[in-house]
Amino acid sequence: MEMSAKETPLRLSPTKDSLNRLFAVSGNVCAFPGCDHPVFDEDFELVAQVCHIESAMPGGERFNKKSNNEARRKQENLMVMCLRHHVKTNNVLAYPTKKLREMKRDHEAQFLEKSKQIPIPPMAIDKAYDEIKRISEEILITVKGTDSKVDYLIAQNERLAAYVTTNIPVADNSPFKSEIDTIVSLRDNFNQQNAIDLFEKFREKNWDKLSPNEKFRTLANLGICYMETNRDKAAADLFIDALTYEPELLKAQSLASLGYTMKGDIINSELMIEKTLRADPQNVDAYQAMIHMLSIKGLSFEEIVPRIPESIRQQQEIAYALAFVARERGLLNDALTWLQIALENAQGQKADLTAGIANILLETINGESFVLNGTIDQPSKNKANLVIQYYDEAWNAISASSLRPSRSWWLVNRAVAKKFLGDRKAAYEDILEAWELNGDFWTSRHLAVAALEYGQKVKMWEALDKMGVTAVNEDEKRQTLLFIAEIDVAEGRREKGIAALEALLEDGLEEKATDYVRNKLVELYSTGGKIETAEALIDQLVKDRPEEVRTYLTQAQFLIFIGRKDEAKKSMEKARTLVNAATPAPEIHELAELFQSFNEAKQVAELIEMIADVKVYSRITRQLLMAYYEAGENSKLIKACEDLLAAYGPIDMVTELLSWAYEGLDDFENAIAVLTDYLAKYPDDQLIQSRLAFIYYRQRDREKLKALLSTVDHIDQTLPLEVQFKLARMFDYIQDHERFVKFAYEVRRNFYEEARAHDAFLSLSVETRQEESETKAPVTVTLNSAVSVSVNETNITYIIEDKEPLFASRGELSPDSPIGSALLGKSVGDVFTADRDGQSQEFKVLHVAEKFSYAFSESIQLLTTKFAAEAKTKKINLVQKADGQLDLEAFFCTLEKGTKCRSVY
Ligand SMILES: [Zn+2]
Repeated sequence: MEMSAKETPLRLSPTKDSLNRLFAVSGNVCAFPGCDHPVFDEDFELVAQVCHIESAMPGGERFNKKSNNEARRKQENLMVMCLRHHVKTNNVLAYPTKKLREMKRDHEAQFLEKSKQIPIPPMAIDKAYDEIKRISEEILITVKGTDSKVDYLIAQNERLAAYVTTNIPVADNSPFKSEIDTIVSLRDNFNQQNAIDLFEKFREKNWDKLSPNEKFRTLANLGICYMETNRDKAAADLFIDALTYEPELLKAQSLASLGYTMKGDIINSELMIEKTLRADPQNVDAYQAMIHMLSIKGLSFEEIVPRIPESIRQQQEIAYALAFVARERGLLNDALTWLQIALENAQGQKADLTAGIANILLETINGESFVLNGTIDQPSKNKANLVIQYYDEAWNAISASSLRPSRSWWLVNRAVAKKFLGDRKAAYEDILEAWELNGDFWTSRHLAVAALEYGQKVKMWEALDKMGVTAVNEDEKRQTLLFIAEIDVAEGRREKGIAALEALLEDGLEEKATDYVRNKLVELYSTGGKIETAEALIDQLVKDRPEEVRTYLTQAQFLIFIGRKDEAKKSMEKARTLVNAATPAPEIHELAELFQSFNEAKQVAELIEMIADVKVYSRITRQLLMAYYEAGENSKLIKACEDLLAAYGPIDMVTELLSWAYEGLDDFENAIAVLTDYLAKYPDDQLIQSRLAFIYYRQRDREKLKALLSTVDHIDQTLPLEVQFKLARMFDYIQDHERFVKFAYEVRRNFYEEARAHDAFLSLSVETRQEESETKAPVTVTLNSAVSVSVNETNITYIIEDKEPLFASRGELSPDSPIGSALLGKSVGDVFTADRDGQSQEFKVLHVAEKFSYAFSESIQLLTTKFAAEAKTKKINLVQKADGQLDLEAFFCTLEKGTKCRSVY
């Protein structure tokens, strides 16, 4: 099949069918030779990565422009690897297409035989498919997004060392060779601090005896040790100083240019780089300095890379510098790729590089969702596990070395990853170890939080004491006192906490801090029942800061708290009139959320518009789109969605909202086009399929609907219940009775424990029965029939079901079970014996029905008994009133009218 050469490359997701085959021949292990990391864990969660051999997009790894979109999504171009090996194979020089194809072929050859394959339940494929989709959207978000900052969860990444460089040996004939070499070797053993001490002593003792070259080497090596212990300024001064002793030596020049760059002295840095490159056009150190210099000058990452000759980009120093700059720009995937390349080409210590990779992976985890929900999604869990492994490796490599205090933040980051996985104990222990190595303010603060969370009160107070001692500026001192006051409050010593806050106010804090403490106090007074005190403080606030948005936010929150909603709204309106371009974004956002709680979508949209960058797909942008949708701002919604889709390609939520907007304007043609575009990328996405199905349904276009649904062989269980039922309903409309009955029954089965499943199932079957001619009850027991029997003087109903898992509590029975196999083929009135509870018993067949019809009456029964409290009462009353003769009209489902955007469910 030849595709047009002018096709635009799109990142098309693999189809579910491809995934199914790919996973089956994976043997449930990573395809990297020797790796035994599983693909699915015991709960069938996808804990590995589906990777492209030839990247889907230009600029990606091993992109082949001669291939085409369809070929790139095929099983042949996909491999399953664990996250670690996915990152590793991003180095295209070490892992070219040919090598990966060999790896894939050798790996899959072991599992081609059917008997060696693992069966994957459709549910697992649905979930995996969803996750792959989310990951590709998430990548876009992390690359371009700017809005995720989570206070104390965010590790201190600026500690990532900016440079790496190699030792500078001394000439063989130098009388100081062995002494200098011994000191330098300490660096290789991670004893930088010892090396620094010894160098300083060496310098003091021998300086006058050293030749210029030996002086240069002493200063340069000393500078490198300072650099590696995060003392950049001392390092820069040494590099610049060192040049005076060997002005024509290239190594001296390139280190000096690094020194100038570190000090932000662009002019001297540029001059020095030029000089070095004239003498040696491939000089790695000079290019390393150049990368940082260009970055400081403000060039984009895409502009910087081509300035570096391709022949040296793979060198450790260069790759590392590129990774560092990419990370600074938030280009986390680029950073990860270049770090991996640096690691592959590293000589000497690799711990910093390994930790660097861990560091960036940690940044790609969406901590926001953790803060909101206390949990993270499966792809993030996989990342967190890998982060921990990398830090383990890095930390073990430097254990018992003098680098540990300066790298103790690795442990803090590892603790963050452990916390993401829910292991507070391990997180606490890591931070404690870090703190014992390095009790600075930052680590102490982390320990205070972790100890609080893990219930280690004594340590928490120790950490708080240390915060007090190590706080160097007003902000840190205030943080400490506030922390203590808030702990007092949290532990029930409200009065003490409040007194401390009041004392802080008395002391005359700076303006911002004053406002923070006042707001905190208002909250404490009002939750403590001191309404009048709170009100007085708010009056004071209004008097002192009548032009501050914050003032009215506090007032509105207070009024909502005490139930004076109308007045609260007035405060919100007042705040809204004060909002301007200078208002801090968090305040505007907070105000928008207040309006959201009053369902004032128009005001929400107006406010979010001020802080959202609609060119960037982020949490804020999503909020804006929802506000447009709820406010009925269709044309604004269309404009914003189209811009986003043009920039990012199909994203499910944006596609869905855009289709709603078009539909709201009765523009079916565009609504269909946007959904069809999405389905070209994700052909198995049933959420979008069902959106499209409904438009065809509204247009009464049975033929298009039939074509659209032709490949649907089960209903995606990851969808909301309403969507699943609505999709099932579509099969009735296209008169595919078999699939309708099968799917409707399946959805009910999936949500059996929820009242609304039975409500919806009844509505659905009543509605469709009106159109359906009477189905004849089966005469004999077959698969998928319900049969009631009398045994041992009790009546039991079984459903013959060939499924995994079976719910025995609901009467489900495998056709292979002793009773199941005996029942098959029997008719009403038949009597037979079978083993039950370990003894042979006599069964008599009383009724046989289709399981679907049986489910109908069982749902009525469940809604009038087990779910009576939750069920929609109106329906139940009607069922009871009709007493067997159901009032069908009352059930009539408002399917089309009730369909809402997924985000609303
Ligand atoms: Zn692996």
